[in-house]
Amino acid sequence: MKISHIEHLGIAVNSLDETIPYYESILGVKCYAIEEVRDQKVKTAFFQIGQTKIELLESTDPEGPIGKFLEKRGQGIHHLAFAVEGIEKSLDELAEKGVQLIDKKPRKGAEGLDIAFLHPKSTFGVLTELCENKNK
Ligand code: ZN
Repeated sequence: MKISHIEHLGIAVNSLDETIPYYESILGVKCYAIEEVRDQKVKTAFFQIGQTKIELLESTDPEGPIGKFLEKRGQGIHHLAFAVEGIEKSLDELAEKGVQLIDKKPRKGAEGLDIAFLHPKSTFGVLTELCENKNK
């Protein structure tokens, strides 16, 4: 398995409208895309910082994964996403090494990336996402 860089950090927020001005006006990074990912019941906003992105996640459904996270833990860092080469092979390799997978096969995430999540029980408490951009 080969991780090339941290693709993004996912941060759960109550409201994109309230959070985006902090990133833009105070931190000085520009939001370049807002996208709804229905599958995951979220609206996302993206900021590019070097090779890494910040992905803000606003829930569109209290029963969705971000809705539940916000209710239990409040706003904050939700997941860490690594860019990998060969996401299918990486998942097979991790499963072989005993890592519990949430997604055994990759699915489509925001920005058309192939993504899959690893279970935080196997990753010392960090919900971990693998991403591969097969469109480049
Ligand atoms: Zn993500």
